[in-house]
Amino acid sequence: MTTPTPLIAGNWKMNGLENDLAEAAAVAAGVGATATRVAICPPATLIERMARALAGSKVDVGGQDCRAQASGAFTGDVSAEMLAQAGARLVILGHSERRAGYGETDALVAAKALAALRGGLEPIVCVGETLEERKAGRTLEVVTGQVRGSLPAELAGRAFSVAYEPVWAIGTGLTPSVAEIEEVHRAIRATLREELGEASNRAPILYGGSVKPSNAAEILHAAEVGGALVGGASLKAQDFLAIIGAL
Ligand code: PEP
Repeated sequence: MTTPTPLIAGNWKMNGLENDLAEAAAVAAGVGATATRVAICPPATLIERMARALAGSKVDVGGQDCRAQASGAFTGDVSAEMLAQAGARLVILGHSERRAGYGETDALVAAKALAALRGGLEPIVCVGETLEERKAGRTLEVVTGQVRGSLPAELAGRAFSVAYEPVWAIGTGLTPSVAEIEEVHRAIRATLREELGEASNRAPILYGGSVKPSNAAEILHAAEVGGALVGGASLKAQDFLAIIGAL
């Protein structure tokens, strides 16, 4: 069976001005020639400068969202093609902050994943249950439903990853137990195989939600965890490097 190459991606969210590029440069210097794939997804305004600063390093640059259309009258939006031209290699899609804050549906996330492929970007598709859904015992139903709805058939055989991010674990300091993470990751893996075939075994399934240096080793060594999507702890090179080093 093919083993996915692990990916540790940092989501800077709406944080980062020019002077913060020094943190990204410190990450690139610190990872050296690691076999782990590392990416940083800064705000769109920093993508081009970060890609230039990190050129030739092991750290890829990614976007945090894209519009499904390539161009048009969509004030304020950015297309996959624009991100790619700025130097992005990947793009986060369907983050819970966008699903909740902008009403993004599975169908829209799937359309954005198609746009990412069209633009030459590797999508990181986020899924995850709310606390209410977990308490109601609906976690697997919700998450596998999001996987079915948000990942278009065209991803079969293409490079992509899924990030399991329980909404209640993002930015809260709370995390599921390792057993709970493994249960969800196994369900995602089975759903990917059903929907996208055996080639999807190459896609890493990342865990995201309050990953920090102190819990990274335990989470990253759990079954079917192929890396992490890291928010707050990716903003400081020292913390992000400690997480990368824990793999
Ligand atoms: C995220 O927003 O993708 C995330 C995982 O955030 P944090 O690590 O801060 O919980």
